[in-house]
Amino acid sequence: MEYVLTTEALCKQYKKSKALDELCMHIPKGAIYGFVGKNGAGKTTLIRMICGLSKPTAGSYTLYETDSEAKEIVTVRKNIGAVVETPALSLDMTAEENMRQQYRILGLSSFDGIKELLALVGLENTGKKKVKAFSLGMKQRLGIAMALAGEPDFLVLDEPTNGLDPQGIIELRELILKLNHEKGITFLISSHILDELSRIATHYGIINHGKMIKEFSAQELEKECGKYINIRAEISDADALTRALDDLGIRYEIISEKEKSLENYFISLVGGEDNA
Ligand code: ADP
Repeated sequence: MEYVLTTEALCKQYKKSKALDELCMHIPKGAIYGFVGKNGAGKTTLIRMICGLSKPTAGSYTLYETDSEAKEIVTVRKNIGAVVETPALSLDMTAEENMRQQYRILGLSSFDGIKELLALVGLENTGKKKVKAFSLGMKQRLGIAMALAGEPDFLVLDEPTNGLDPQGIIELRELILKLNHEKGITFLISSHILDELSRIATHYGIINHGKMIKEFSAQELEKECGKYINIRAEISDADALTRALDDLGIRYEIISEKEKSLENYFISLVGGEDNA
């Protein structure tokens, strides 16, 4: 299999804490890779590192099979687009002006691609509207358009659904799927909104305390979760459930909650003591 990113026993040691602890990660080309972990698990540390914003203290990683220590890594990194935390937008400018600014920063010689990119993210009709008047979802999509300016084939989104309303979440989901299907862009998406992630991810990595607990594909998740059956019974007392099941005197239904299954699996792997 061809990988966009692999990490080998990757470590990041801060004075007091080990943010990444021999992390091994594998993102296949074309994947939508859901990177799942509780707050403080190490997700942002990994993302900053592969974007070149910090260096490993031990171990290594490869991007498109180029080692992180190789000189060429700087050129290879141009294949990555990233929206980390809130996108850096100029609020007093329009969408198009922000895009032009981004093109200048990247040293691109022509502005030709801008209209197409804005149309791709559904912002072609925002005209003179300044970004400060945009919804959070529109800002997020403009951030993605800006990250796409250098025509990357690997997009890294750090908690992209944070703060979005349901409509914004749907639009973002459709945009990610479109970019993945039509442009073949590989995604690394960190998120703790598991129900949403499980609608689009093809692969997952579960990180806890800087360690990779498990990597699996969506098909493997489906098999794993197929072992569980959720039962919703019309009673309030849990003990009564077993009695009821014994004599089958109570009406009940067996349901399979697909959206919830990633969450259940995550909790079974890392426990549920903190906020996921
Ligand atoms: P996540 O993105 O999964 O919430 P982070 O990667 O932000 O987690 O943090 C992982 C761990 O590293 C946390 O314990 C955090 O406190 C610590 N950490 C992150 N950045 C720094 C830093 N610059 N200095 C010291 N500790 C840090």
